[in-house]
Amino acid sequence: MSYKIVVIGAGIVGVSTALRLQRKGCKVTLIDPKPPGMETSFGNAGLIAQGYCSANAQPGIFKKVPQMLFEKTGPLSIQWSQLPTTLPWLMKFAFEALPKRAEANGKNLHSLSRLAVDGWQDLIAGTELDRFVRTTGWLHVFETQKMFIEHKKEVAFMRSQGIDIDVLSAELVADLEPDLARCFVGGSLQNDALSLSNPHAVVSGLADLFAAAGGQIIQDRITTVVTDPSGRMCQSVKSNDRNYFADQYIITAGVWSKGLATQCGVSRTLPLIAERGYHIMLPSLEVGGFKRPVAFGERSFLLCPMTEGIRMTGQVELAKTDAKPNYVLHRHLLPLVKQFAPGIDVREQSIWMGNRPSLPDSLPVIGRSPALKNVILGFGHQHLGITLGPITARLIEQLVFNRPTEIALDPFLAQRF
Ligand SMILES: Cc1cc2nc3c(=O)[nH]c(=O)nc-3n(C[C@H](O)[C@H](O)[C@H](O)COP(=O)(O)OP(=O)(O)OC[C@H]3O[C@@H](n4cnc5c(N)ncnc54)[C@H](O)[C@@H]3O)c2cc1C
Repeated sequence: MSYKIVVIGAGIVGVSTALRLQRKGCKVTLIDPKPPGMETSFGNAGLIAQGYCSANAQPGIFKKVPQMLFEKTGPLSIQWSQLPTTLPWLMKFAFEALPKRAEANGKNLHSLSRLAVDGWQDLIAGTELDRFVRTTGWLHVFETQKMFIEHKKEVAFMRSQGIDIDVLSAELVADLEPDLARCFVGGSLQNDALSLSNPHAVVSGLADLFAAAGGQIIQDRITTVVTDPSGRMCQSVKSNDRNYFADQYIITAGVWSKGLATQCGVSRTLPLIAERGYHIMLPSLEVGGFKRPVAFGERSFLLCPMTEGIRMTGQVELAKTDAKPNYVLHRHLLPLVKQFAPGIDVREQSIWMGNRPSLPDSLPVIGRSPALKNVILGFGHQHLGITLGPITARLIEQLVFNRPTEIALDPFLAQRF
């Protein structure tokens, strides 16, 4: 059976979905006001965090919030003028931090993330894009014994979930990444995590494959979902000046999905907000250089070697998607970069802000829309969209063809809110 499909939004989730469905014989149109991969999928850290099993809302997190907020180089900031938008989300986040909720959310996240690498391999096998995929793992390093001891408990839990991760002494950290300063007491290496050396090149490369095989990419912004007289099917989706018709419609518009999803029966109170994050590109090291992303445990930022230089990335800022970026926040981290990797030239080459599409339980929405039978939703992948994009696309494909999904999707339905 071949279907005519419209995919709305060309980030990692939409592009992976369009390509998979095209390979299964569907006639797919991918619609986005921007060229593929130009929003959140552009400037992330490129980590494919196989088996990730902890939700962001954890018991005790609120005790740490004041320190997180008021430290100049802290991991979290809130644009206070926008508290009316973020407060309801924060209240739901507090609920998700209850021990039982956090445990269930972690389990559900793991049911998806344990298939992350498989999803990627499935998508890029036989293409030349695997040249951007590194298999050197993901390194975490710690400045203090207190945090290192805490982290060792997390490592034990991750191992119990089947994740391939080793605890490292200070000497082993220095052997792995000689460009790091010798101020770390230890760390861990997740061996089965992959990383992309240029996330944008991969997403746009996937879109190029789709276009080369006859897929249609249209630059347009969808505003309206038109239902048929029964009110149970989507008849078309509309932009300001065009109508697009298909058998099935997929909404993968990241943090901008809510307006369209609510037209498909999703509650207006769906708590989807932007956890904004930043990056600064720095020049590559002339000699040596990092071989893998390095996360600084106490600081919540990473240094990631990319094809165009070293990417310093991280932080969470709760603000509206259209609020002005607060680049100062991220620039405050540059002295720490110099401290942790003295060989790095910290002259900024470029700076970027992206919108992680986040729900308080750290789970994406994946499933059929509550009201319209021929609309499928795939958004809200928070800090893990690169990790989970391709496996989400595989699940969407199973829904399109009415096959049983390889994992239960109940925890991911929009109706949970
Ligand atoms: C600083 C930072 C670091 C990160 N690091 C990692 C990491 O290491 N690993 C990881 O797994 N994840 C990471 N993430 C998260 C990841 O980048 C996101 O979860 C992911 O990119 C979201 O992909 P998406 O396709 O859902 O959304 P997007 O990439 O935002 O794409 C959505 C698309 O929809 C389009 N759109 C919007 N409205 C409409 C409309 N009305 N009609 C048509 N199209 C529309 C937009 O133009 C956009 O192109 C990071 C994020 C940030 C900010």
